[in-house]
Amino acid sequence: MHAFRRGREYDRKRRYFSRSLGWYRKGLNSEDPIDRLLAFWSALEGISSQYFRHSERTKEGIFNQICDCFDQLWGNVDNWKVIPGNAKVVNEFYAFRNGIAHGFMNVNVKAIREISARLDLYQTLVHTFLLDWESNGYMIEKTASARISTAQHLNLCRRLKMENNTLIDRLIQLEEDIRYGEYATQDEPEFIHRPGTIPILISAPHGAVHTRGGEEKEEDEYTGGLAQLIGEKTGAHVLYARRKSNTDPNVDPNACYKKKLKEIVDNYKIYFLLDIHGVRADRCFGIELGTARGESCSAEVKNLIINLLNENGFSTDDPVPLKRLRVDERFAGAGGDNKETVIGFVKNLGITAAQLELNAHLRIPERRRDASKKEPFTGDKEMIEQM
Ligand SMILES: [Zn+2]
Repeated sequence: MHAFRRGREYDRKRRYFSRSLGWYRKGLNSEDPIDRLLAFWSALEGISSQYFRHSERTKEGIFNQICDCFDQLWGNVDNWKVIPGNAKVVNEFYAFRNGIAHGFMNVNVKAIREISARLDLYQTLVHTFLLDWESNGYMIEKTASARISTAQHLNLCRRLKMENNTLIDRLIQLEEDIRYGEYATQDEPEFIHRPGTIPILISAPHGAVHTRGGEEKEEDEYTGGLAQLIGEKTGAHVLYARRKSNTDPNVDPNACYKKKLKEIVDNYKIYFLLDIHGVRADRCFGIELGTARGESCSAEVKNLIINLLNENGFSTDDPVPLKRLRVDERFAGAGGDNKETVIGFVKNLGITAAQLELNAHLRIPERRRDASKKEPFTGDKEMIEQM
């Protein structure tokens, strides 16, 4: 036993090996041939049942799992130590063990003589196996645990994927609060503030149909749902349009939406606002960041947002249009004649702000039947999840 002096140390680091050593020791200390046989077998089984490689063969059970661990340690059956080319010995060992353990072997004098005649061989086999496993089995254990953690990692990915599916479901559910083409009533306000716990406000002023210069403009589909979803995930405040408006909450200087904005900014000491909009599917970019050409936030904040978008797979030079980021081009959010965008409005209140224009592919999981655009449309769900 001096070969296994380090047994105690293994209790912590190599649990299964240590347990097998325990069985071997028990076998050595036992007088009874039946107990010895069962203990030696358990020493083989303890390691092998943990570290066999998964295959059609090892699926069949412990006998093949033990043979596989011999293979891993010694190479193929012809190179096995103690019993080269003789897997039959293991098979017979297994048959004795099963006969005893499952009670279908008549343990008479003859059987005990047969078992005793083989115990020396079994003991040598197990002893040699454990000795070699102590030194060379360590790498096998490491490889196996790497295999296990890879499997766990894949499971985790699958779980996250499921969570993402739930994310899309939740987005669709939150968007249900919005009626694109229905005016507000006494019970159904045009926009809603969902209070948060951090001083950041997510705004979606075009969540429903709105009116600009006397003309109806279609909703930025799913921006209201996205704003709510971000609020749920981050604890940010959310203000979003949920009914048709005869103003343009984004650009009319006197829209009620703006009054509500000011109230929230004042009451909750908001220091950053993100305004979410949508552009058509055929635009040649995924996201355009608007900062009123650098006026709604500092260069530092602007770069911070650009870096964040870069980290999430959007960059100005991406050849894939949906992954392309534009900054302060057509949709800078700078406003104009008698137009004051949300970000311009809060900038004048002293708040840092930015707006995001999202391509339809990045926000619409499935176009709703009440949408202004009538043709069916399905966005890129994977990209929506990633956002
Ligand atoms: Zn918009």
